[in-house]
Amino acid sequence: MQINDNFEKLPESYLFSTVAAKLRAYKEANPEADVIRMDIGDVTLPIPQKAITAMHRAVDDMAEKTTFHGYGPEQGYDFLRKAVAENDYHKRGMDIDANDIFISDGAKSDLGNLGDIYSEDSIVAVADPGYPVYVDSNVIDGRGGKLIDGRWSRFVYLDCTPANGFKPVPPACHCDVIFLCSPNNPTGVTFNRSELKAWIDYALREKAVIIYDSAYCAYITDSELPHSIYEIEGAKECAIEVRSFSKTAGFTGLRCGYTVVPSTLFGYDRAGNPVSLRKLWLRRQTTKFNGASYVIQRGAEALYTPEGKEETAKNVAYYLENASMIRTTMTEAGFTVYGGDNSPYIWVKSPSGEGSWELFERLLSEARISCTPGVGFGHLGEGYIRLTGFNTHENTIEAMKRILEIFKNKK
Ligand SMILES: *Cc1c(COP(=O)(O)O)cnc(C)c1O
Repeated sequence: MQINDNFEKLPESYLFSTVAAKLRAYKEANPEADVIRMDIGDVTLPIPQKAITAMHRAVDDMAEKTTFHGYGPEQGYDFLRKAVAENDYHKRGMDIDANDIFISDGAKSDLGNLGDIYSEDSIVAVADPGYPVYVDSNVIDGRGGKLIDGRWSRFVYLDCTPANGFKPVPPACHCDVIFLCSPNNPTGVTFNRSELKAWIDYALREKAVIIYDSAYCAYITDSELPHSIYEIEGAKECAIEVRSFSKTAGFTGLRCGYTVVPSTLFGYDRAGNPVSLRKLWLRRQTTKFNGASYVIQRGAEALYTPEGKEETAKNVAYYLENASMIRTTMTEAGFTVYGGDNSPYIWVKSPSGEGSWELFERLLSEARISCTPGVGFGHLGEGYIRLTGFNTHENTIEAMKRILEIFKNKK
């Protein structure tokens, strides 16, 4: 068998393993140093009690002949699809049909798997810096071309810089598939309505499809900002929305998310005839996926009860309070920062032109704080670092105290 040689083109991803290795080495050399992890990209609070109770009950269902569940529907159980449609869309004024919602084992799988429904020669647009899954999965599918100076020749890169507030704008050229992420990982910035509208106008004009990753929509507190791309007119004709219970309700280890593929959304065959993308995605899922676990879907359903919503909101607020503290202190310490207000992520510019890894080393040796070097998310991330609000209040307060001691009035 000959392998898919796209894997050989793909460079190793060293970001998180290098961070881990550097932390290990530092701790070995400084065994008494109390390093605070500000690089955590995972939730840390436990699952809301309401979901735990529902999952316990669902496990008991599996123990009885009359309530046992075998294979479930590939698209997800009705009870969860209806809860999603009603709470995440109808109550927010969006007309999304439960039939167009596909429950999955998480957003990452869907973001990668969606590549099955668009052609290998599609032109893909990705943000730089951006979440690495969009790039790597399309390279594996053969859409990257050649890697030249760290950029894939067939991709359209959407530059995110201070000039556009790290929010990518539609390019002058054509592309077929556009990955947008809001609130963004890693930059923490969120699109407003008019910025999203510009993307929708572009996609409709170019007959392109936007794959909208809103894994962090629960972190939006500003009522003016859209939680969903479907809040903007025209999106049901050009956008797929991918969501997750991971960052919202702490489901990173349980695995559950969903993708909306509206039945009003079409791609085109070689002859130019419109083809329903919902139909293709359904075919893809029924062929390669056997549904998310019944127990986990019962847990996700419970998040939509009043108590479930309250507990979820409390956890999100906890992380947001950390993020706000980081944003305020870093600004006070003289850094230029982005994000951190409707997002758990804070994107920080290095104060005196050092590279991402230099600032990483400096924060580690001088403040005993770990961060994620921005260059790991793309070329244009060089000179930035990402901090997160996922540690405890106590550790976040201590980390910010250290930052102020080192950087304030010292730049
Ligand atoms: C964490 C994350 C995801 C993945 O979520 P899962 O549902 O756990 O697979 C998707 N997109 C972004 C931007 C993320 O940060």
